[in-house]
Amino acid sequence: MRKSKFVKLKFREAGFISRALLSTRHPVLAHLIPMRRCNLACGYCNEYDHTSSPVPLDVMKRRIDKLGSLGTSIVTISGGEPMMHPQLDDIIHQIRMRGMIAGLISNGYYFTPERIKRLNKAGLEYLQISIDNVEPDEVSRKSLRVLDKKLRYLSEYADFHVNINSVIGGGIKNPEDALSVARRAVELKFSTTVGVIHDGDGTLKPLSPKEKDIFQQVKKMGNKDHARLNWFQDSIAEGKPYNWRCRAGARYLYICEDGLVHWCSQQKGYPGIPLQDYSMADFDREYKTEKWCAPTCTLQCVHQVGILDNWRDPQQAPGLTKPESSLKDTIHEVLSAE
Ligand code: SF4
Ligand code: SF4
Repeated sequence: MRKSKFVKLKFREAGFISRALLSTRHPVLAHLIPMRRCNLACGYCNEYDHTSSPVPLDVMKRRIDKLGSLGTSIVTISGGEPMMHPQLDDIIHQIRMRGMIAGLISNGYYFTPERIKRLNKAGLEYLQISIDNVEPDEVSRKSLRVLDKKLRYLSEYADFHVNINSVIGGGIKNPEDALSVARRAVELKFSTTVGVIHDGDGTLKPLSPKEKDIFQQVKKMGNKDHARLNWFQDSIAEGKPYNWRCRAGARYLYICEDGLVHWCSQQKGYPGIPLQDYSMADFDREYKTEKWCAPTCTLQCVHQVGILDNWRDPQQAPGLTKPESSLKDTIHEVLSAE
């Protein structure tokens, strides 16, 4: 990434952080899914299929406009594999046109010099690729050996920030691979982070002593800002719950391919309201709702957004904040159970 562009991006980020600290009444980060389909089938993943079609561009544009009108700061395109969407560049361009920061999470398979140049032109600002191991195996083919050529292309042509995330847990066989991935990222002048990953059912597995040791080593090599923001990971690695206020459904939004707002990728179905109908009343309710899954949550980006408001506005149990329709559902469930 060119230095002048990097400095400009840092200024914009600082502006967004100040705005988020001054006002709690807008989303900071939205994950937007343009396509559920993926070219891979990682063993721990519950976020893909092999058959769905891309969401049409005009629908995606309407969703982006709505996020803009809610005052969202950052929109990150995720999936599935979003690079399979034939109009990804237009989607990114639309995010930039609405004045929001445009990010992308990808498995890296589709990067060629030509494709990277098109993403530069569209205005992409952040890319994250997660690499799970050095050699492909039955759990994951997001492997350094397969992707190294793509990383070299990115190092040469990308005019956006690239972060390489390595992972620990979730059935990854050789935890030391995370060290090789982080070293390669540093060599290519990318930033690097490390995440603890879920099992297929979204639950957390405690790390083994060897995994814990490698986790700490990789963290030291990585992005200092992220390490500072991700202290929750130390508790999770130790198998201890972490006490924080998850602001999913408000400061963080997850919008699936059907255009519904969910707490996050691991808690789909609630609130399950169409983005186009999402109001500040929904935002306020979710902001105040305590999430039962927070103590063992490993989703780094939602934790990072949560830091902005952890010190203010205590939350209430879901029973006290649920929308009317959900309360009716609950009463219906109780009556059916009886
Ligand atoms: S983790 Fe990413 S690359 Fe792997 S199957 Fe899931 S969506 Fe696809
Ligand atoms: S605590 Fe984690 S898993 Fe639960 S809703 Fe928040 S982000 Fe999702």
